[in-house]
Amino acid sequence: MSSEFIPTLFIIKISNDCNLKCDYCYARKSKKELSEETLAHIANLIVKWVKKKDLKRVKIGFLGGEPFLFAEKIEFFISKLNSLMNGRNDAISIAIQTNGTLLTKEKIRWIKKRKITIGISLDGPKEINDIARKFPNGNGSYNIIRENIQNLIKAGIEPRIITVIHKYNWNKTTEIINHFVDLGIKIFRFNPILPANKQARELSITPNQFFEAMKETYNTLKTLRKQGIEVIEKTTRDYASLLRGHLTNMCLKDPCGAGLNMIVFNNDGWIYPCDMLIHEEFKMSPIGEIKDISELKRNEVLKELINRREIAPRKCTNCIFKTYCNGGCPARILSEESNRYSVSKWHCEFFQKYLTYLLLNLINSQEDKLDQ
Ligand code: SF4
Ligand code: SF4
Repeated sequence: MSSEFIPTLFIIKISNDCNLKCDYCYARKSKKELSEETLAHIANLIVKWVKKKDLKRVKIGFLGGEPFLFAEKIEFFISKLNSLMNGRNDAISIAIQTNGTLLTKEKIRWIKKRKITIGISLDGPKEINDIARKFPNGNGSYNIIRENIQNLIKAGIEPRIITVIHKYNWNKTTEIINHFVDLGIKIFRFNPILPANKQARELSITPNQFFEAMKETYNTLKTLRKQGIEVIEKTTRDYASLLRGHLTNMCLKDPCGAGLNMIVFNNDGWIYPCDMLIHEEFKMSPIGEIKDISELKRNEVLKELINRREIAPRKCTNCIFKTYCNGGCPARILSEESNRYSVSKWHCEFFQKYLTYLLLNLINSQEDKLDQ
């Protein structure tokens, strides 16, 4: 698989400040903020890169903290970007990943005008979502998120949902999917919780629990499809696509897209290879010292991430899944405190079980093309 350096996803974290206090949040607590000057520099870097490589599809994603606390800075950035692109704006799309609590009617009008894709974090119905996704006073966030999702849909904007699968909802995926269908949500992704800190470790799940969650998801999607209800769960889609030889997610590439296809401009003023790798050892360069994105191609952090895959553990040598497997997310490998040149034990167990299950099902039922 390709280890060509061609970043097409740029993540901008203006600040880590947030109005929620979710139990498993992995964003490092810091109120540092990217200045307008730095944002203008980032816009210049991206536009120069798009023009130089004649890229047709580039995505810029705002992550936090909560990006809507900094809506004016996002608008400043988009205006700058548009003026630098001189009418070639269709090559770049903008996405914002939000907790969904600050979407006033005025912001929804702005989202529509700027054609921004909105991703919202929601873990299921109220009693599930509010276990971990809370305001600092302990109140759950569900009610306000639900209202805002409905307002978005009324305005013709289709939000994409990210659901963290953890100790309290891994065996409730059918309930979660049916709830999303009731809300009019068509696209969502189930992500297993990453045990990156003490609270997240308390909510963590075993590979087998995530396998059971994804097995149930697969069967629920099949049942809905038979009823004429088409929804996309992106993890199912990504794995089904992988088996059919199409890559729809840079996390499943070998090596993964960190630093190769994705670059993160972080609120501490540094560039990192991935939002999940915001650690001292993955600092690539201060943002201001880069004059051209291509300078990152020879970065030592990137070289190490790529080389990591050249040293395969012995158990992988004869593994029948090795053509598809990338050893797991480096962030998960680090959370297991293994040698970073190793593979994730969690990933390995899940991957073998889930791929076997999907393979047998896809062979048995050609009509279940959940990757399409
Ligand atoms: S580091 Fe993990 S989250 Fe980031 S691109 Fe690689 S696999 Fe995906
Ligand atoms: S599934 Fe496990 S043993 Fe097989 S290649 Fe992946 S990490 Fe190695």
